[in-house]
Amino acid sequence: MNSQTLLKYDREHLWHPYTSMEDPLPVYPVESTAGVRIRLMDGRELIDGMASWWSAIHGYSHPVLVQALQEQAARMSHVMFGGLTHGPAVELAQLLVELTPAGLEKVFLCDSGSVAVEVAMKMAIQYHYAAGHPRRCRFLTIRSGYHGDTFHAMSVCDPVAGMHQLFAGSLPHSFFADRPECLFPDVWDQRDIESFARLIEQQHEELCAVILEPIVQGAGGMRFYHPEYLRQVRILCDSFDVLLIADEIATGFGRSGLMFACDHAAITPDIMCLGKALTGGMMTLAAVLATTEVGKGISQGSPGVFMHGPTFMANPLACHVACASIRLLLESDWRQKVCQIEQLLEQGLAPCRDLVQVQDVRVLGAIGVVEMKVPVRMKEIQAAFVERGVWVRPFGRLVYVMPPYCISALDLTTLTAAIVDVVAGEGRP
Ligand SMILES: *Cc1c(COP(=O)(O)O)cnc(C)c1O
Repeated sequence: MNSQTLLKYDREHLWHPYTSMEDPLPVYPVESTAGVRIRLMDGRELIDGMASWWSAIHGYSHPVLVQALQEQAARMSHVMFGGLTHGPAVELAQLLVELTPAGLEKVFLCDSGSVAVEVAMKMAIQYHYAAGHPRRCRFLTIRSGYHGDTFHAMSVCDPVAGMHQLFAGSLPHSFFADRPECLFPDVWDQRDIESFARLIEQQHEELCAVILEPIVQGAGGMRFYHPEYLRQVRILCDSFDVLLIADEIATGFGRSGLMFACDHAAITPDIMCLGKALTGGMMTLAAVLATTEVGKGISQGSPGVFMHGPTFMANPLACHVACASIRLLLESDWRQKVCQIEQLLEQGLAPCRDLVQVQDVRVLGAIGVVEMKVPVRMKEIQAAFVERGVWVRPFGRLVYVMPPYCISALDLTTLTAAIVDVVAGEGRP
């Protein structure tokens, strides 16, 4: 199919993320991907700044992952997980239990990040239900969060930036603490936790869990907050017998500079959600890890089983690729790579600080953010990036990148130079 025919059919029939069916923004047809390159059908090659939304940490079409996929496809692509089990699921569970903070021992493998959040929230509700506290079914979170697009996940996304107005009639009611204002490199200010502390104290009889993104708030604002906030959240959850769910779907597997963002505060959540980079961006898979206590709690009393079991639970193809991706990461010098990316992002994006249209520039690990004062002109800015040979996908006031860890210094410099250039042109007539 030539690209004109493809684009025409796409425009008429395919929904893209958060777009209109009548007046969609342009899309760029991709022919193939390799390493840190996205090759468009017109032959142009783009340096990838997005790792396909945090997921392709090793770059695209990594030979080890392609081989793992082919081997497993030939052996067994899928088999139901009800009444059956298999090597890829067990090996992945072993790797995840070893890698995640001590205490997380029970693994639920599901389809996507949003589903993992639903599973985690159901676990928290069932845990308290089984303990004889059916009233404890609400959630406390922090503003500026993002946890996915399914219903319970939406109910804990930022109430202003999220979809609360639109779906108000169908969403469960959650409690929102003020977002942390002490940022990652700031000096800790004890007042930052007051709003959260007050809410958990007032509402704990109705709360089953706190859910938050540790340290890095992603799609809700791309903000990096102080580890002390997370440490104190852990302590407060313990003192009010409220579970802590850490949504590490974006941050897991080294993105923030440590293997998990929880490691910045040296805490273990009761439940942890993983997704995005889990398969190195090869395919969709997510995992929910829980402590032995949560597993035990849910399995006691009524109903005595955890009420969730998707058709493609623990898909062998995805599990096997996830194992290969995690081993690839562990064998690499990812810590040093992420550290180098952090330094180059810091240097490369620094000139944006002097631009009047820029509100803030911040970098943590392999994540770089330029926050504008007003929302970008999406269509124009997207075209400007493609013209300069880079793939950067801004949203709202945020121009941000989280490249594959294998990006070269030269490509990264080209990427940041393009951002400085394009951002400088933004807001001009
Ligand atoms: C992307 C994301 C999700 C949702 O994952 P999907 O795979 O898109 O459903 C949930 N939480 C966080 C923090 C995310 O970044």
